[in-house]
Amino acid sequence: MDELLRRHRDVMPSWMPIYYDEPIEIVTGKGARVTDSNGKSYLDFFAGVLTNSLGYDLDEVREAVERQLRTGIVHTSTLYLIRQQVELAEKIARHSGIPDARVFFTNSGTEANEAALQVATNARRSSTILAVRNSYHGRTAGTIAVTGNRAWSASALSPFTVSYLHSGDRLRGLFKGMSDERYLEAAAEDLREVLATTTAGAVACLIAEPIQGVGGFTHGPDGLLRVWKEILDEHGILLISDEVQTGWGRTGEHFWGYQAHGVTPDLLTFAKGIGNGFALAGVVGRQSVMEQVQGISFSTFGGNPVATAAGNAVLDYILDHDLQANAARTGAILLDGLRAAGSPIVVEVRGRGLMIGIELTSVAKTNAVFESCKRDGLLVGKGGLYGTTIRMGPPLNLTEEEAREGLEILTMALREHA
Ligand code: PMP
Repeated sequence: MDELLRRHRDVMPSWMPIYYDEPIEIVTGKGARVTDSNGKSYLDFFAGVLTNSLGYDLDEVREAVERQLRTGIVHTSTLYLIRQQVELAEKIARHSGIPDARVFFTNSGTEANEAALQVATNARRSSTILAVRNSYHGRTAGTIAVTGNRAWSASALSPFTVSYLHSGDRLRGLFKGMSDERYLEAAAEDLREVLATTTAGAVACLIAEPIQGVGGFTHGPDGLLRVWKEILDEHGILLISDEVQTGWGRTGEHFWGYQAHGVTPDLLTFAKGIGNGFALAGVVGRQSVMEQVQGISFSTFGGNPVATAAGNAVLDYILDHDLQANAARTGAILLDGLRAAGSPIVVEVRGRGLMIGIELTSVAKTNAVFESCKRDGLLVGKGGLYGTTIRMGPPLNLTEEEAREGLEILTMALREHA
């Protein structure tokens, strides 16, 4: 591993972060478990940063992909008709909750958000955008511009004029210690004030994550998107819900994160979990908005035959096995168990379904718990604006037994570093 790490460092840029004091190379996987090049096995609660929605090597997904590969067509051109692409678009449109939905496929969440921003700025003939502090939306110039976390801003040059709203948890900042009711009032005041003070002319859209993923799984109260949308509607401003992490039933209570807020966005973006590892993402929007794009748009690989074959198998499996309910059930084991464990180094346990964040007292404690979990066979993520959050997004088909096993390792690690 030292040798591979040295070669990685010799050939790849230093701004690519690598996890762990002693980085690992994952070589095989089955279900919710992976094995590294030393033969050590781990329960994977980070699952490719929430991409491996069905874990590893699920028969249904592998067989769908193999069937496609056997046709000889890994890819031709997305300028031809692709049956499984159309089928997947129909299913996503049907389940999106957006009336008269149109679907455009891309290869990544970044491109999905870039496409949504293109649609919104075209529709409104404006390049002024509202975004949210502590957000993450991607790696292109446009999506970096709406990412409210300077550590992730590899470019300071913005193609948009962006104003940021307050958001997030109630541990610090504007909403510190506020009740739900007061939070929603303050968020409405904040939006009105931003519109009155830091924008001029038409505003195209607000882009927001229902639960901030990279930001540390922070979120406001239910109803926040509704409160925002009511004000946006007064001005004709579009709402984009970035569902890259919160989609496909991950939050347990709902299929999409926006549904906790009693409102329907104009556009939503999806990625990660729909491909179960294959590069598949996209944007869904009302036809009247989607059709406003000037000129044509195209993606060489977006919605390609292999990725959409996987996507159909993944979505069918999630729906047929009601994995949204499983996310609620197994997520509750983790959330309740972590809250009951009550450690002095835990500031807050938050999240929904199988999207769970543990806020710890310091960066050092976060790193220590993170390393101990790995030593004991559990992969988790870390992050948050202050680097003090342990983040977990296990496969949606996690079993109750696996949830308890992970909980045990986590609680031991929290105890060890208390
Ligand atoms: N939006 C959100 C909410 C994300 O979490 C991410 C990835 N972490 C992206 C967009 C970008 O997706 P990708 O890395 O597939 O470009």
